[in-house]
Amino acid sequence: MKTKQLYINGEWIDSTGNDIADVLNPATEEVIANVPVGTADDIDTAVAAAKAAFPAWNATPIKERIALMEKFDEAINARKEEIADTIVAELGAGKKFAMDGQVGLPLSEIRATIDAVKEHDFEYMIENAQIIEEGYGVVACITPWNYPLLQIERKVVPALLAGNTAVLKPASNTPLTAIIYAEIMDEVGFPKGVFNLVTGSGSTTGDYLAGHEDVDVISFTGSTAVGTQMYEKAAHGIKQIVLELGGKSPLIYLKGGDLKAAVKQAINTVLNNQGQTCTALTRLLVPKDDLEETKQHILDFYETEVTVGDPTKDDIKVGPLVSADQRDTVMEYIEEGKAEGADILVGGNKIDGPGYFVEPTVFVNATNDMKISQEEIFGPVLTVLTYDTVEEAVEIGNDIVYGLSGAVVGPKDEAIEVARQLRTGNIIVNGAERVSSAPFGGYKQSGRGRENGIFGVKDYLEIKAIFI
Ligand code: NAD
Repeated sequence: MKTKQLYINGEWIDSTGNDIADVLNPATEEVIANVPVGTADDIDTAVAAAKAAFPAWNATPIKERIALMEKFDEAINARKEEIADTIVAELGAGKKFAMDGQVGLPLSEIRATIDAVKEHDFEYMIENAQIIEEGYGVVACITPWNYPLLQIERKVVPALLAGNTAVLKPASNTPLTAIIYAEIMDEVGFPKGVFNLVTGSGSTTGDYLAGHEDVDVISFTGSTAVGTQMYEKAAHGIKQIVLELGGKSPLIYLKGGDLKAAVKQAINTVLNNQGQTCTALTRLLVPKDDLEETKQHILDFYETEVTVGDPTKDDIKVGPLVSADQRDTVMEYIEEGKAEGADILVGGNKIDGPGYFVEPTVFVNATNDMKISQEEIFGPVLTVLTYDTVEEAVEIGNDIVYGLSGAVVGPKDEAIEVARQLRTGNIIVNGAERVSSAPFGGYKQSGRGRENGIFGVKDYLEIKAIFI
């Protein structure tokens, strides 16, 4: 793997600076690679390459762009096991989850986006107006560490198919997956400058990239705090912006539904990937008189299915958090929950290293105004809340600044009615499967714009009308 260099204008080149960042394995705390910290000069070179490549790429017939992306799809599938192993090593994702959720899901999304573009008309007439949908220019793709491949693919694939060029700045904790991604882009033969990779820190490399005057689109996935700063950057130069931000999503269990299945669904989302998932169903809402049964289901699940440890082992469900900082943040929230008066049903402690492990934790007797109910913890922590009426459940579900995801488990028609009332971008009814061609994105402070399928492509398209 080309860990020592940046990928700019179709070549692997040295950074102009000397700063190197360690990449750690969070399960062992060992350094597994070093990558360059891209400088402002590196970003200038990458953006200039992307800008120079844009006119020809935007003018390339869509069929040719699709053909290259099809080659990419094939090539990335050929390296899927290596990518999954890399994600286990740099993120600490469990091996099975890495193959399915971290690699299988993005591969299916790449396919769905290509298929959606094949069906889309980029040019059509409205009366005497020729409508042309085309790229904006240079897209700054800034991605988080929690799903290293998924977050990159959701930006780069639609942005390029739409005719844009891209500069990717991946999260500093997980740059290795991004490097493999760049190797594949190179191997497939995208024209020079269409895709560029600059590794580095968020506050320097990422910040400079987002504010660059030749960047036309900021596509950012990450925390709402940094997303707010991206909005401010986009204001200068009136850049297009796509934001995929934080979440604190509810699962509402309705009487008459399968309570055991509801408990399992919520817990799985806070344990897979150690709860470092923006769509995790971290608030479980149950009727007050179902609380005792809910607690029993939770205890049974933790006793029989929850194992914590080395993520490379198949029988381990919960691995380490991505970093010491993330572990400390999660522990601060757990202590805060205790101090606010919620009760710990399961877990609640740090696990001694090596590795950044925390006990999977469940809070009960919490109220919706507590920090553990309102803020995104991004760790294996579930908060159980109770309600008296369905109206109150919806009110609690919506009483939050976020609106990314959610779930309802209950009698079908009633569950769909509740889903309609939740102010959130995605809702799963009775454990239904999420399809890759459907839109993904947040209401309220969970973001702007949508990813996936044709919805994901539209955010990267300028629209021109030529009246003839
Ligand atoms: P983060 O906001 O700290 O960082 C995200 C990316 O932005 C990283 O590449 C980082 O280096 C970069 N960055 C940080 N500061 C920057 C700055 N000032 N200027 C430019 N770039 C900067 O988020 P994170 O900790 O990497 O990821 C976790 C967050 O991402 C959570 O809040 C999670 O909910 C959110 N997330 C959202 C979605 C979604 O689709 N809505 C998906 C995954 C993660």
